[in-house]
Amino acid sequence: MFSLSRKTRKLYYENPDASECAAKVTRINANNVELDATVAYPEGGGQEADHGVIVLDDGREIRFVDVRKMYGNPIHIPAFPDIQVDGIIEHVIHEDDLALLRDVNIGAEVSVRIDRLRRAQLSLSHTGSHLLYLAVADIRPDAVAGTIGCHIKVNAARFDFAVENRFALDEVEEIARIANAYVARGSEVKVYPHPDYMDARYWECEGRVIACGGTHIASTAPVGQIRVHRKSLGRGKERLSCEFIGSSPNPAVFQR
Ligand SMILES: [Zn+2]
Repeated sequence: MFSLSRKTRKLYYENPDASECAAKVTRINANNVELDATVAYPEGGGQEADHGVIVLDDGREIRFVDVRKMYGNPIHIPAFPDIQVDGIIEHVIHEDDLALLRDVNIGAEVSVRIDRLRRAQLSLSHTGSHLLYLAVADIRPDAVAGTIGCHIKVNAARFDFAVENRFALDEVEEIARIANAYVARGSEVKVYPHPDYMDARYWECEGRVIACGGTHIASTAPVGQIRVHRKSLGRGKERLSCEFIGSSPNPAVFQR
């Protein structure tokens, strides 16, 4: 099978507290740049990508507005969702900064710096989305089994479910109550990799474990009030959205 020998070191896993790193340019494509290492989390598992800048050695900054993980190798781990490991990470450049790429050479030494506030907000939303998901698992395990997608962005998240029966109002209220109780308890959140695969990761809170490669915060407390909304997407499809009211993302602290 064809596989690429080049890959990007995922410093957002190796050193989750880092918001800046040194890197070398390994490839320049039409609208994106590949690096040998990055702290920028790529879109994945429904979580939107980090934003940030690639800083050239003369100090000029090239903004990136999306980050994509490409060409990973599929692996199968027992009792874990199928994922792809390794791969290359592309930094999609802001269109107004594309002209700067003409001055960048393969092998150039650069640094990468991400928007810490956005990372903190996305990590908070991702953590809050898991609290919603745990509550759905308690009240509507059939819906969890029929999860068809999720989207995690700044201050909000949503899940889509394929279900036979729609969510009743009292179920939505109970889901919101359970999710908010996790916040009220200010429980610790742990994140750790599978012993054999750094890319296969777990999120754990109050003994409940979710397989997840996203970024998170270390406690449920900063999530704030979780406001839950239900929407029908047509026959057999339901959406639960949540907003985080009065949340307190902390750009000074990522994961531990
Ligand atoms: Zn997660």
